[in-house]
Amino acid sequence: MNKHELWIDGRSRKTQDWIPVLDPSEGRQVGTIARGTPEDIDLAVTAARAAFAGPWGSLPPADRGRLLLRLGELLRRDFEKFASIESLDVGKPLSQARADAVATARYFEFYGAACDKVHGDTIPLNGNMTAYTVWEPHGVTAHIVPWNYPLQMLGRSVAPSLAMGNCTVVKPAEDTSLSALALAALTEEAGFPRGVYNVVTGLGEEVGTALSAHPDIGHISFTGSPEIGMLVQQAAARNAVPVTLELGGKSPQIVFADANLDAAATSVVRSIIQNAGQTCSAGSRVLIEDSIYEQFSKELAKRFAVLKVGSAARDLDLGPVISNNQLARIQGYLDIAKKDGIITLAEGLLSDENPPNGFYVKPTLLGNVCPHHRVAQEEIFGPVLAAIRFKDESDAIAIANGTPYGLVAGVWTSNIGRAMRLAKKVQSGQVFINDYGAGGGVELPFGGVKLSGHGREKGLAALSGFASLKTIVINDAHSA
Ligand code: NAD
Repeated sequence: MNKHELWIDGRSRKTQDWIPVLDPSEGRQVGTIARGTPEDIDLAVTAARAAFAGPWGSLPPADRGRLLLRLGELLRRDFEKFASIESLDVGKPLSQARADAVATARYFEFYGAACDKVHGDTIPLNGNMTAYTVWEPHGVTAHIVPWNYPLQMLGRSVAPSLAMGNCTVVKPAEDTSLSALALAALTEEAGFPRGVYNVVTGLGEEVGTALSAHPDIGHISFTGSPEIGMLVQQAAARNAVPVTLELGGKSPQIVFADANLDAAATSVVRSIIQNAGQTCSAGSRVLIEDSIYEQFSKELAKRFAVLKVGSAARDLDLGPVISNNQLARIQGYLDIAKKDGIITLAEGLLSDENPPNGFYVKPTLLGNVCPHHRVAQEEIFGPVLAAIRFKDESDAIAIANGTPYGLVAGVWTSNIGRAMRLAKKVQSGQVFINDYGAGGGVELPFGGVKLSGHGREKGLAALSGFASLKTIVINDAHSA
């Protein structure tokens, strides 16, 4: 059985204890990862500091960029290998895992190309003064990654951090650490100096806490649940370290009677079943205008009823969920809905060929859900869609904004004025009009408001999070 060691300072490092790696499609153990310790975190941060003070720190931005671009190229070369690692580890249908591998390559390409294009400003003052700004890297950045898109989430924060000149320590989720470790070999092949990219696998409460509290970290990117995000922010606050929090969501897709209903239905279904609903930006609420509620919910039900769920390798509409715990969590919400009399409008189909110990759940459409019910308020993180009625535009806005979250929203209407009003009034990091999660996303700034977090990743906007702005002023009247 494969044993996966830590990656610190350009070499593998053993530990005493190990954590089993499970294949969610079959519920069986396929390997082990090292259970790192706080001492390993310390070694990784020290290695990253040394690389920052040494070869990486002195590399011109264009050369840094070339290394990132080379890493993107190697990821494209090996994308089938990364897709199968991710598919095995997360249970993703193979085609979704392939898309993740390509998206990760795009992050390294996008930010690799940006390395030598980040400039400061000159600021006009009075005659004797010259003022300008420069961006300076934080030094060592920490990246705490969740299990739903392990490779993509890693690329999303590591690539812009490296682009700005930092060195990195990655703590992947304990359920899905394999792709972060596999990437280490590619950083070596690409020619990154040792210590620039370090991976410490292990438990959140052991190595995650040690990393968040480490005094030599200059910035933390945390992607995960609001509960843990707040713990990470508290730990970072003790060292006055800035934190980007990419947390959860309860994102609405708002469908008006005048919308292209066929396109809306396709998007609404896709945005909740992708990655078996384990997506922070899943469209987990569909808000439907009263006059089309029956017609549109019937259309969604028709589409839900033919969705197929099976092992990752079979590449059906949905794979398994990540773990038994996640399965129990989703089932728990479905039980609450049933107990409270919420009707199930449709369920998808579990394949007869599913291995008996895999973590499979039927995609479920719940009808006429009260906007205040728990299934319409809390992040289920599974393929469960709550259909909610609304009366008019202001009712739609109130319901859309009526959860603790604000990550992504979709608005479906052919009325441009209404689309623009909603884009302004919906509290959300992103709003899509007549689309949802469009454009692949690498170029589009992404992040939340309210409990969905703060700070922005993706796009050029992410770069400023990974550096601090220094202002320099020279008075030439007092210079020799
Ligand atoms: P989680 O918060 O349980 O874990 C995230 C990471 O934090 C893991 O690596 C975990 O090991 C680590 N961790 C756990 N305890 C820790 C601690 N005390 N200190 C430091 N680190 C600790 O989240 P999850 O279950 O892996 O992921 C699901 C959540 O992530 C959902 O809420 C989802 O919406 C969110 N998410 C958000 C985004 C986004 O971009 N907004 C993207 C993906 C996932």
